[in-house]
Amino acid sequence: MKYQVYADNAATTRLDEVAFEAMLPWLKDNYGNASQPYSFAREPKKALAAARETIAACIGANPEEIFFTSGGTESDNWVIKSSAFADVDRRATITSAFEHHAILRSCATIERLGYPVAYLRPTADGLILAETLRRIITKQTRLVSVMFANNELGSIQPVKDLCAVAHEYGALFHTDAVQAVGHIPINVHDLSVDYLSASAHKFNGPKGVGFLYVRKGLDLLPYADGGSQEKGHRAGTENIASIVGMAAALRENCNAIEKNVQFLSNLEKRLLEGLREAGVKFIRNGGANTLPGLLSLSFPGRDGEAILHRMDLMGISISTGSACDSINTQKSHVLDAINLEDDLAFGTIRISLGRYNTESDVDMIVSGLSRILNT
Ligand code: PLP
Repeated sequence: MKYQVYADNAATTRLDEVAFEAMLPWLKDNYGNASQPYSFAREPKKALAAARETIAACIGANPEEIFFTSGGTESDNWVIKSSAFADVDRRATITSAFEHHAILRSCATIERLGYPVAYLRPTADGLILAETLRRIITKQTRLVSVMFANNELGSIQPVKDLCAVAHEYGALFHTDAVQAVGHIPINVHDLSVDYLSASAHKFNGPKGVGFLYVRKGLDLLPYADGGSQEKGHRAGTENIASIVGMAAALRENCNAIEKNVQFLSNLEKRLLEGLREAGVKFIRNGGANTLPGLLSLSFPGRDGEAILHRMDLMGISISTGSACDSINTQKSHVLDAINLEDDLAFGTIRISLGRYNTESDVDMIVSGLSRILNT
């Protein structure tokens, strides 16, 4: 294939060059185990501490509030399960119907074990409103978990308001911020969230590494028992190269966050204008406040899967929904949750632009879509 346009950055992103370079020494020369007492372990130990500080600074946290994990899925599983099992008095969890499956399937597991879970319905614009939470929250609620931004729609949630309602009832608040960290400014202390999940490969870091923010003073049952890594809460020899790469990638993205937001908003505008000028009929899902560069577009009466495959033949990668669902051709649970009618839901694609995309990529996407949809 001559030219490849990658427009599925919500599924994963290209590794940042600085992050790549930062990882190399820890893969080759400085391969010591950070838990050992001798001098060869000193450098890896320092690298872990520095990465923790960098990550904490990027989200307004303290270093001791950052726990390294293998990614968003692990961070989500950890919070949902540990939180449910930790409190015998407050047993209930509230989440939303359009969370990522890392949350939904963790909730299904705790439900099977007898812990009640309630699911908040989003509005047609893909928002979980504080008043919706207020209607069902009780003093039995232990944890409220609502994602920062939806991975199919890009809709950014009113996290601060939701968190305030949770706290009013004495519940803790978790947000799966996998799609948002490194893309839009986030400050955990301003928001008052208790737990936050993030994943490096969504912000130009390596795959298989992420972190969980746990507010100081809160405890969680250990995710993995064993050695004393991560204060005994997540045992196992640390993946130093990946953790260092994650910190470097997050720092690079956060240092350029305003610039990236502007750049992606311009690309997004160009894409939408291009489609309109080409006479393509579409509706955009997700409301007015979406992640920059993430577009959920529905083409009435068309087949999203077929569009994806025809775009692929042109060397353009887009998605119909979340990456984990690409083998599942049923109606997406997210589009179902916002009550999108079948005619639109089955004709929906997700285009997610990233900082490595160019105007010419966008023009190729527009021309590909108009060739498919104007025939
Ligand atoms: N949460 C959200 C909102 C996601 O979009 C994803 C990945 O698509 C995950 C969690 C899972 O993250 P990871 O791939 O790091 O396990």
